[in-house]
Amino acid sequence: MEFIYPPTCLLCQADISDGAHQHPAFCTGCLNKLTTVTVDACLRCGAPIGPFTVATDHCILCKREGFAFDEVIRLGLYREETRVACLRAKNPSGALLGRTLANCLIDAQQIRLSQQTFDAIVPVPEHWLKRLVRSQYAAETMARQIATRLKVRLATDILAKARWTPKQAKSSPVQRRQQQQDAFRVVKSSLHGQSILLVDDILTTGATADAAAKALKRAGAKRVVVAVVAVSPPRV
Ligand SMILES: [Zn+2]
Ligand SMILES: [Zn+2]
Repeated sequence: MEFIYPPTCLLCQADISDGAHQHPAFCTGCLNKLTTVTVDACLRCGAPIGPFTVATDHCILCKREGFAFDEVIRLGLYREETRVACLRAKNPSGALLGRTLANCLIDAQQIRLSQQTFDAIVPVPEHWLKRLVRSQYAAETMARQIATRLKVRLATDILAKARWTPKQAKSSPVQRRQQQQDAFRVVKSSLHGQSILLVDDILTTGATADAAAKALKRAGAKRVVVAVVAVSPPRV
């Protein structure tokens, strides 16, 4: 393994030094909860769909949204262990967990990721003021790991957050959309014809990823695929 892990599970702190656990960072119980929800998701927005729905390109939830991104590739749903893991990965000491979650995402979605090629991996950026006070932030830590694993260029200088947006947890889906409108701008030249893998830790309403994807497409990107650790359960 590429990282040095402590002898305890990164999520529940159970002792995993006995060699009985298949993952070097998580106990079997936590690993199963993190990785068993990858099936039956809408290919377009990552929302869970029923067994009788075909996961083609739009589910009932994203049909009305008209997202600017083309696809969402995700590990799990934002609940239970996955939620705890995402929250901890945001901490200053969460980089190891963030990189490990990125690895779990790549391992779980190897087929979909290998079916396409990307010109650049772009983390959803934070406003520079927020970056000043944080030693690491999850989206960039995860994007860096995904870029290393997929051997694709990490581009942290393409997309910038043009203005401060309020904390999204306190806003309604409609407010989120309004807040994220034109919140991003492409700093670097033309992305003409490029295929971008946009990385974030969580996709909630999709408003942030949508606004970021819009900016990338306005700069010429042909395709924007979003990779996240967790998608929040149906936004009905
Ligand atoms: Zn555990
Ligand atoms: Zn959908």
